[in-house]
Amino acid sequence: MSISTSATNRADAPAAAAFEGSRPIYDPATGDLIGEAPVHTVEDLDQAVETARVVQPAWAALGHAARSACLNRAADAIERSAEELARLLSREQGKPLNGPNARFEVGACAAWLRAAAATPLEPETVVDDGETRAELHYRPIGVVGAIGPWNWPMLITVWQVAASLRMGNTVVVKPSEYTPLSVLALVDVINGELPEGVLNAVPGGREVGARLAEHPAIGKVMFTGSTATGKAIIRSSADTVKRLTLELGGNDAGIVLPDADPQAIAEGLFWGAFINTGQTCAALKRLYVHSDIYDAVCESLTAVAKAMPMGVGLDENNVLGPLQNKAQFDIVANLVQAAKDSGARVLTGGSPDAGQPGYFYPTTLVADIDNDHPLVAGEQFGPALPIIRYSTVDEAIAMANALDVGLGASVWSSDPAAAREVAVRLEAGTVWINSHGMVNPMIPFGGAKQSGYGLEFGVEGLKAVSVPQIING
Ligand code: NAD
Repeated sequence: MSISTSATNRADAPAAAAFEGSRPIYDPATGDLIGEAPVHTVEDLDQAVETARVVQPAWAALGHAARSACLNRAADAIERSAEELARLLSREQGKPLNGPNARFEVGACAAWLRAAAATPLEPETVVDDGETRAELHYRPIGVVGAIGPWNWPMLITVWQVAASLRMGNTVVVKPSEYTPLSVLALVDVINGELPEGVLNAVPGGREVGARLAEHPAIGKVMFTGSTATGKAIIRSSADTVKRLTLELGGNDAGIVLPDADPQAIAEGLFWGAFINTGQTCAALKRLYVHSDIYDAVCESLTAVAKAMPMGVGLDENNVLGPLQNKAQFDIVANLVQAAKDSGARVLTGGSPDAGQPGYFYPTTLVADIDNDHPLVAGEQFGPALPIIRYSTVDEAIAMANALDVGLGASVWSSDPAAAREVAVRLEAGTVWINSHGMVNPMIPFGGAKQSGYGLEFGVEGLKAVSVPQIING
């Protein structure tokens, strides 16, 4: 098939959307025009929600087996279109084809669809004592709204959509205004295997997302994005008492214990921090290293960082790309400049090449930085990792837990039992040992504190897009 880079949304048809216009989308690596993205209005959204509401009972009535078969066929279709999808994603988002980037993201979309299709969720008998019999069933919610970010646009859409569809909901997707073409192309491929109107995409601005969050016919919002927007969605959804899954911002800490082997962990640390050029919610964003091995860890990590090629995504050699947009580039550049001004030591990077086109910021490691510096305490969301020295494990845990977000965390050690003792004291939704940010479609994922609430993936992810119902008697 061929993937268009203009308005490509089959589900627009029943809604007969007359969109407001279109917007040019540029490649963040080159500045080249990629295509025109439709800009939909709040009225278009209302129409798409109505379409989803009307077709939902028939979709639910198909049953789990038929819906799962559709999801499996959608996974096959994604695999057939994988290279075209990956190339579009690379050009729009910026991430390279190779490494844990565009081809990996498209492949994971198929894997998550298949996992959502294969995960069993049967009614449970909760009491059966001869007098009372109570069963717990999981019913569809109705229409689910899915609002996504620009960093992993295709995969996060699938995370929100796959479980929702499997459970008999219909879905209206609002992609990020930065990466609409990738999401529209993906939805187009999936829609080839679904009944008309079951999955709808409405690209538009914040006002479209805000309407989705307050819309009376939407029963649940799956939101992935910043904590600030998550709070706005809580407020907009209050009047209709919507169910919410909120996957929000993070500022993940990694703690390297004194017995870790700096050489052995260097590559894992690097990818934990720099996957998708640091633009990943559950990336390692603050690294705490014991003073005994601080210099050795800095040295090993610097060697790995210097060897990783950054450049235009379509070049097969690159594994790191540009920042996706100018605003994100400016955030990273200003934070690193402030760190330099404060006297922190830059081990590598720290000076973007002003003559280079695109939003490239070099891979940057910053040592000897205060724990309360904004590069440490804020979410930099880019290729700049601060490395903080500590002397006692209690001190490292206190620093890791000091922030009001808690998406992921990691502990690095040659002794897994010692690492586990530290892990259970960390306030984060997931704590990895000797890795960071690895997700798996069967392992629940979600945040603690202001990183959000609700779980995605596995059976917990299916339950989250259902209404529990007790049949008593
Ligand atoms: P963002 O919050 O700016 O935007 C996300 C989406 O929300 C966009 O589609 C946007 O149009 C929409 N939106 C904006 N205002 C809205 C409103 N008032 N009501 C409804 N929708 C609205 O986030 P972003 O910059 O696109 O993404 C980066 C952030 O996402 C980072 O903080 C990152 O940590 C977070 N993130 C979290 C996870 C996770 O799983 N926890 C995953 C990826 C990204």
